Amino acid sequence: MKEYPMYIGGKAVSTDHTFEVINPATSEPFARCSAGTAEHVDLAVQAAQEAFISWGKKSDDERRAGCMALADALEANMKELMELVTMESGKPFEGLNGVGSGMEVGGSIGWTRATASFELPVELIQDNDEARIEVHRKPLGVVGSITPWNWPLLIAIWHVIPAIRAGNTVVIKPSSFTPVATTRMVELANQVLPAGVLNIVTGEGGVGSALTKHPGVSKIVFTGSTPTGRRIMEASAANLKRLTLELGGNDAGIVLPDVNVKEIASKLFGVSFHNNGQTCAALKRLYVHEDIHDELAQEIAQIAKETIVGNGLNEGTQLGPVQNADQLKVVEDLAASVEAQGGTIVAGGNKIAGNGYFFEPTIVTGLTNGSRLVDEEPFGPILPIIKFSTIEEAVRLANDSENGLGGSVWSNDIDKASKIAMQLECGTSWVNEHGAIQPDAPFGGVKQSGFGVEFGTQGLKEFTHIQTLKVMK
Ligand code: NAD
Repeated sequence: MKEYPMYIGGKAVSTDHTFEVINPATSEPFARCSAGTAEHVDLAVQAAQEAFISWGKKSDDERRAGCMALADALEANMKELMELVTMESGKPFEGLNGVGSGMEVGGSIGWTRATASFELPVELIQDNDEARIEVHRKPLGVVGSITPWNWPLLIAIWHVIPAIRAGNTVVIKPSSFTPVATTRMVELANQVLPAGVLNIVTGEGGVGSALTKHPGVSKIVFTGSTPTGRRIMEASAANLKRLTLELGGNDAGIVLPDVNVKEIASKLFGVSFHNNGQTCAALKRLYVHEDIHDELAQEIAQIAKETIVGNGLNEGTQLGPVQNADQLKVVEDLAASVEAQGGTIVAGGNKIAGNGYFFEPTIVTGLTNGSRLVDEEPFGPILPIIKFSTIEEAVRLANDSENGLGGSVWSNDIDKASKIAMQLECGTSWVNEHGAIQPDAPFGGVKQSGFGVEFGTQGLKEFTHIQTLKVMK
């Protein structure tokens, strides 16, 4: 079984104690990673601080060239990275509607190039006989990145590239469920970037909290669950770390009665179920007008029944396994809660026999807010379809959630849908789409889905502080 070391200060660092990485399609280990400790976090932060002395002073062109070289290295190793992502996360190569490890690695390359090309020009506030006032953007220092298991490589890229493009250096701690593709990416980065600019510490417990407490870290960028986000915020208080917290979502979609049910059903199924619903901004609560509710629920249930679930390494697989045994248990418990809460499972509902963590794509009707499946983020292949009568009711139910990541409205009347979309309490509202993100459009949550944004120049600015220069004339 291949062993993956950590990379600290440009050097591979192995530990005697290692941990296994499980392929969720087989529940068998396929790789081992070093089990880093708080001492490794110290070494990595020190290496990043030393690298920051020169990386922080490099020109935009030099930093951009470093990011572009990493994109080239990722592209040259795309096939290997896709296999690693599929084996550790379970997502198929192509996946449902093309959302798979090919998109994850391709997206990582595209995002790297796009982010590298952004500019943060000096802003001129005043330039007259009295004074000249300029606003400059400066890097923060060492950034700690902590990533989840659902899109391991892509989310690592979303953290790392804007950080280093803006002149910071980074210590990354990936999820212990999915550390392999990220470790390989950091190895490639260390072939093209100066030593210490990007460091990785892998480990099972304590590594993340050591990073969030570390006085040498200026900012934490975190993507993961809301409870962990709260712990990170507390731990970061000691030295007033800046934070970007991309946390859980329980996104609502509202379908108006004027849609073409047959056309829209597969689109709605795709935005809910790609990557098995294990996407922060997947559509997780579907509110459908009573005039078309039964017909649309039936169409979506039929698609669920026809979906090909299997090992992501096999061609033609649309959905892989749930990523880990704990998450599978969450989905099984939620499915088991449906009937007692007055709902009906109209497709799926069961674990698929075998060793992998497979669960049938599951459609539920008859529930509303106040039931577990609607109120809790399932983060798995199970979708409640909820009937509504009036738009006011739909908006109230959609906003009746502690989360506020994304939301969507589906209608042939784009103006009407846009007005409703703007009433949703969330960071991104889509019309006739859901979860579609791109490198130049800011993305982030409100309410308990976190704060701060990623992507675009707004996202890049989050890895800088302002320095105002006032020159009296
Ligand atoms: P998680 O919070 O369990 O773990 C995320 C990371 O935090 C892992 O690397 C974990 O090891 C680390 N961690 C755990 N405890 C820590 C601590 N005390 N201090 C520091 N680090 C710690 O989340 P998960 O289960 O890996 O991911 C699923 C969640 O992530 C879902 O809620 C999902 O909605 C959310 N998510 C959000 C976004 C977004 O952009 N908003 C994107 C993807 C996933």
